[in-house]
Amino acid sequence: MNAPLREPSFRESVDIMFNHAVRLMDLSPGLEEKIRVCNSTYVVRFGVRLRGAIHTFTGFRAVHSEHHEPVKGGIRYSLAVNQDEVEALAALMTYNCALVDVPFGGAKGGLCIEPRDWNEHELEQITRRFTFELAKRDLISPSQNGPAPDMGTSEREMAWMVDQYRRMNTTDINASACVTGKPLHAGGIAGRTEATGRGVQYALREFFRHPEDVARTGLKGGLEGKRIIVQGLGNVGYHLAKFLSEEDGCRIVAVIERDGAVVNEDGLAIDFLRTHLNACGGVRGFPGGTFHEDGADWLEAECDILIPAALESAINLDNAERIRAPLIVEAANGPITSGADEILRKRGKVILPDLFVNAGGVTVSYFEWVKNLSHIRFGRMERRQQEAQNALLIAELERVAQSAGLTAGFSDVFKKEYVRGAGEIDLVRSGLDDTMRTAYQEMREIWHGRKDVEDLRTAAYLVSIGRVATSYRSKGL
Ligand code: NAD
Repeated sequence: MNAPLREPSFRESVDIMFNHAVRLMDLSPGLEEKIRVCNSTYVVRFGVRLRGAIHTFTGFRAVHSEHHEPVKGGIRYSLAVNQDEVEALAALMTYNCALVDVPFGGAKGGLCIEPRDWNEHELEQITRRFTFELAKRDLISPSQNGPAPDMGTSEREMAWMVDQYRRMNTTDINASACVTGKPLHAGGIAGRTEATGRGVQYALREFFRHPEDVARTGLKGGLEGKRIIVQGLGNVGYHLAKFLSEEDGCRIVAVIERDGAVVNEDGLAIDFLRTHLNACGGVRGFPGGTFHEDGADWLEAECDILIPAALESAINLDNAERIRAPLIVEAANGPITSGADEILRKRGKVILPDLFVNAGGVTVSYFEWVKNLSHIRFGRMERRQQEAQNALLIAELERVAQSAGLTAGFSDVFKKEYVRGAGEIDLVRSGLDDTMRTAYQEMREIWHGRKDVEDLRTAAYLVSIGRVATSYRSKGL
């Protein structure tokens, strides 16, 4: 009898995918190993007095690669956080940033905690103490190491972190750049909260602009009308589901959450579902769909696009053979294990890889960091000048048309839209869209151009590893 197949750990899984790609490259001896390994991981145990007793918490900050600084990566709050996981996520951040040409190295942090077990005031005390521990060792700093939100954290935690850092560095004029994903009032940027979900939308739009690529999935036409299943309705899942259903005409036919799945063939009302989830802690009882307790089984249901947006290893050796969606979009980090990836590849499934798909978050984090260092909101200087120029052009064209005896003019709607200067949110969206399109085009050039590259994940790794290698070479390594 065959022994049951062992699933590698998350970090091993990332390394296997890295190794698969690096075999197709010609790197100088030893460079491959230097790029793959995680440079350092700091583990801290600290106590906080809460509810009349001292509670000890364990936190991590892994730095995978410092070929660019600061290194960047989210902070996760979950009981499942461990060293293997943060190192895997830090490695993914290195490849993420390199793929979308964002000048950061890769890092990730985490705290072993169930955030729902603590009230807001307690969470603030815990977060401030964790920040203190990180700041003491330069593991949070505008020039060296920048956290951001991830699973279990949001702009609220980032606001506490930046405030704590500022208290410890009162003369640092760039203090607000020590963390991204902050609320606007604490130095954030318009569009950061939605950025990862928005990036998933732009990634899918770009994929559907290439009919030859869509043909590989067996799907037909554009995004409109596509039936989508989403796992996880948190920050990433909620925004992508909302944008794809409200702006691209997709139908979200099932959402899988911790407590089960909710299904509606006509399409779920995402805002109502999110309100229900926030109020009730699950999707059970949502009046706009049918509830099924066997949530994970819905990953295997028939649909056009499957978007795992919750956690790693959701698609693994146990269920990979039964996945029916022809197109899988990895909005979460590492939702497909390396073994499952191989099975899906052999079954002809097309996978848009995490390195690419969820890079919207770090891309807009980069814009936020630049904004913080330049101390000025994007568009503040140019917006009204641009509007005046546009108004001048319209007025002159209308004058010329009139003097030529033409009666038809521009419609008021067109004039309003044309004259409007770009505000921060417009510039952020434009920069994000450009980033996602460019990254996809670089990947697909390799995917189509090289016979030895079968899939977009390998293509993504080739682009990223190539960039990191160039960086190391220029440092004399
Ligand atoms: P989140 O905490 O806001 O949301 C996660 C959601 O998944 C929650 O609604 C949770 O209830 C649900 N969930 C947890 N376990 C589940 C399970 N077993 N089955 C179904 N649902 C489950 O987290 P997020 O920020 O949306 O992150 C989700 C994923 O996206 C993670 O892999 C994260 O690393 C990745 N990511 C996040 C960002 C970001 O900007 N927040 C950026 C890049 C990548």
